[in-house]
Amino acid sequence: MTLQIVKRRSRGFICVNAHPDGCRRNVERWVAGVKGKMSGAENAPKSVLVIGASTGYGLASRIAAAWGYGAKTLGVFFERPPEGDKVATAGHYNTVALHSMAKRDGLFAASINGDAFSDEIKRATAETIRKQMAPIDLVIYSLASPKRTDPRTSKTHSSVLKPVGQAYTNRTIELDSEKVVSVTLEPATDIEVADTVAVMGGDDWRLWMEMLLEEKLLAPGARTLAYSYIGPKITWPIYRDGTIGQAKKDLERAAKDLDAELANQLGGHAWVSVNKAVVTQASAAIPVVPLYLSLLPMVMKKKNLEEGVLEQMRRLFTDFLCTGSAPKLDEARRLRLDDREMRADVQEEVAALWPRITTENLREVSDFAGFQREFRGLFGFEVDGVDYDQPAETDLNW
Ligand code: NAD
Repeated sequence: MTLQIVKRRSRGFICVNAHPDGCRRNVERWVAGVKGKMSGAENAPKSVLVIGASTGYGLASRIAAAWGYGAKTLGVFFERPPEGDKVATAGHYNTVALHSMAKRDGLFAASINGDAFSDEIKRATAETIRKQMAPIDLVIYSLASPKRTDPRTSKTHSSVLKPVGQAYTNRTIELDSEKVVSVTLEPATDIEVADTVAVMGGDDWRLWMEMLLEEKLLAPGARTLAYSYIGPKITWPIYRDGTIGQAKKDLERAAKDLDAELANQLGGHAWVSVNKAVVTQASAAIPVVPLYLSLLPMVMKKKNLEEGVLEQMRRLFTDFLCTGSAPKLDEARRLRLDDREMRADVQEEVAALWPRITTENLREVSDFAGFQREFRGLFGFEVDGVDYDQPAETDLNW
């Protein structure tokens, strides 16, 4: 037992610790948000593998499949467990909460903590599936990682968030100082583009699916999804046309090839799902995005259109995956969950507010406070119903 008072500690804007009770509350809220609220149970997946399952879109996908439909879930992720009085990462505590609630509710849940890019973790995953939950009928690929060691070459690739071809200047919030500043990002080198594609592109997704096919662990009609983002033109130089966008285009190429392979072998499918911009540990690290995420939810709330990760995943399952017919795809074969974000009236309002924001009016013109609260909430801080003056048990494992 390690009972201790846990106060938020930050390095600059980033939280370097996490609160177990706050993380538990978050998971409880998400479970309550899907339980008994999902339609299409007769077409729902029964056995789901989520790669990148401890936070953000992956965690929400896992919760939607498990509590929305009673699916067995296996989550793979990379998190730091507690060590003595050193607290764990948020994704570890989220998973502890998920396992204890799954046990209470009689749901099968298994988790593997380690590097999803490695052969070792792929083998361990295959073993768990074979023994406990084969065949898998849905694979969600939701990794967001700054680096990847390719097991075939032992080379470590680091991803960068940079424009491609030419420098890009725009306004952003300097998160440490809370100042609105102009930032110029120099274009990536060809090597940086290739490295980012190696980390966040489709290569590792292909390796996962080839392994699952080879090991005969997939059900007839099995489907797989990887998540992507497109966003408004204002962010394209750094996102869609930047290094990360090149990786996402590679993911789309992988989806096309995997779709053909799965259709041929199992009558299955592979798609990219384009999701809405939300505050996660991964998205907050992208330049310009914090400013966008201080405006977008505010505009969408006013129009009654706002969705968080959970609402997005609810819609993914009920409107696309569990309808009993082929999901609606765009011209590039992608599922589009960003339709509300991309509505012309939403984007026009965001674009009109964008140039008005200054350091002085940041908290009046934008909802920076909401962005900050949401970000701290990811680590279990500033969560309603948690008394941060009380000691919490931090030495928790599933
Ligand atoms: P996140 O940071 O919340 O989650 C990342 C997950 O990946 C965590 O579970 C983490 O443990 C896991 N992970 C990282 N490195 C790993 C490794 N080496 N091995 C095993 N697990 C590892 O990120 P997120 O924002 O939910 O992003 C997930 C996907 O959704 C990404 O592809 C992202 O581009 C996409 N997406 C995000 C947004 C957004 O606004 N956040 C919008 C659209 C699409």
